[in-house]
Amino acid sequence: MQELLFNNFDRAKKIQNSESIIYDMIVIGGGITGAGILLDATLRGLKVLLVEQRDFASGTSSKSTKLIHGGLRYLKQLEFGLVRETGMERAVVHNNIPHLVHPETMILPIVEGGTFNSITASMAISVYDFLANVEKKDRKKSLSKKQVEKGEPLINKELLKSGISYSEYRTDDSRLTIELIKAARREGAEAFNYVKVSDFIYKEGKVVGVHCKAKGKQKKKCSFYARHIVSAAGPWVDELRSLDKSKKGKSLHLTKGVHIVVPKERLNISKAVYFDAFDNRMLFAIPRGKITYIGTSDTTYKHSLNRVLCTKEDVQYILEKTNHMFPSVNLKEKDVISSWAGLRPLIHEDGKSPTDLSRKDEIFISKNGLISIAGGKLTGYRKMAKRVVNKVLKLDDVTESCKTKTFKLHADSFHNYSDYLKYLKQLKKEYAYKEIEKYTMWYFITNYGKSGKHIIDKALEMKGKLEKNLIKSEIEFSIHYESCFSPADYFIRRSGRLYFDVDSVQKHFDLIINEFAKHLQWNNEVRQKMEYKSRKSIEDVTVFGTQDAKIS
Ligand code: FAD
Repeated sequence: MQELLFNNFDRAKKIQNSESIIYDMIVIGGGITGAGILLDATLRGLKVLLVEQRDFASGTSSKSTKLIHGGLRYLKQLEFGLVRETGMERAVVHNNIPHLVHPETMILPIVEGGTFNSITASMAISVYDFLANVEKKDRKKSLSKKQVEKGEPLINKELLKSGISYSEYRTDDSRLTIELIKAARREGAEAFNYVKVSDFIYKEGKVVGVHCKAKGKQKKKCSFYARHIVSAAGPWVDELRSLDKSKKGKSLHLTKGVHIVVPKERLNISKAVYFDAFDNRMLFAIPRGKITYIGTSDTTYKHSLNRVLCTKEDVQYILEKTNHMFPSVNLKEKDVISSWAGLRPLIHEDGKSPTDLSRKDEIFISKNGLISIAGGKLTGYRKMAKRVVNKVLKLDDVTESCKTKTFKLHADSFHNYSDYLKYLKQLKKEYAYKEIEKYTMWYFITNYGKSGKHIIDKALEMKGKLEKNLIKSEIEFSIHYESCFSPADYFIRRSGRLYFDVDSVQKHFDLIINEFAKHLQWNNEVRQKMEYKSRKSIEDVTVFGTQDAKIS
């Protein structure tokens, strides 16, 4: 296996070492935006440190719809530039990490009273395909009512008039984030999770460093220095601008979006469906392994940034809209086995509703030199990073071109998607006699690329039940190679099990806690605390109340 160790065993020493370096750049925030900047800047020869206050991707970057897409609906807002940029990026990100970014055919049902009729939909998707430079074989196809009904028989026949199929890509946002951070570390960058910036350090009116609080065996204060400080703090960007006393002019408008998860059998669609909610919004229903997930809502948000919840009301909204489009399934709250809720860090525009706010990114540079980036989309992370690093290099009067377009993110990458498909097929054949289910093989290789084979092989060497050994081996990998601190880091952001296979988390809960306690040498007190926190994070996505009630 070609992975680089990335763990917290000698964390205090590593932090101390970083304190003695003057970096070219410190990036605040370990979401997709910060991770993208870390890699781009490192590949252009800068010495960069990233600090993340909680776990990597624990903000918005684990709560998206997980699509690498141009955003068809932004055409309605005439955002041609944004659609073109993100549309073109789809193929780039797919090539950067083929095992994690999968082609996904989308079905857009044309329905009575919907956003699009067959002419406007056909025109919009043709423009979309053109702007994104989509290959001929993947361009939109018009479907008759009969064809849609045959492919997706659950769609409301009374509303349905015809349909269109078109191409997008599906990913796992938090895995994409961790792979970017790992790639940057292999190229010489440093990154710490659970290190929170609590204040800025200034010299002669310019920001030159950050004071931080680091979580670990002992809570520790530390300070890091750099020539440039970049805040990629997503929904927290304004908090940091306030800390820098530079929150003037434009500010963030946070909107909440939730997704609910139901078992595949309860909404058994063969392709992703992009359907009308009949309230000026559209929702996705996306099949993925054992489940189908549906979302998203879009509502202005003013509660805690640190605990964003899917409420009963959110669940009811999505169920009502889904049942309208797929009436025979009649989904109920008890069918919802998991969920996630995230915040869009959008730039506020007077008089605009959450749905109408632009998804464009913006860079702010304060008079103290703090560089903040906000807005944007998961899909456009590489271009956002390029713009930030270009700005920093310009300040230094240096020209060095961006190198991320063709850079393979995984340590032992597939050359392309067909290489990945061949590998998966071959492995399924090779391991068939070892009682590895097809789903299991698919899960490990799509999550971890070729490192997934290493996780499986290690499990096969262990004594006892294979199902348990696979989890043990996966946890060991996440602690040693992916800087995992807690069970929630593992079952939410490294493996995605809490969203995509919640049964496996509930069934093996004790095993997961035991494995963490063993590897991280927890005493009883820590174990109890972590067990409580882990249960809470499961409850947060499986039990639905009101936002206020659950916070208190
Ligand atoms: P975050 O991921 O929030 O990262 C910011 C990080 O900064 C956080 O981890 C936070 O803990 C850290 N931080 C904050 N303060 C500090 C501090 N003081 N010290 C250290 N660290 C700090 N985009 C798409 O392209 N496709 C989609 O399908 C899609 N779907 C979406 C669906 C929903 C419901 C939402 C909400 C968004 C969606 N997006 C999508 C948009 C996309 O998810 C976001 O644009 C992106 O994840 C934002 O990433 P970020 O790194 O800027 O912010």
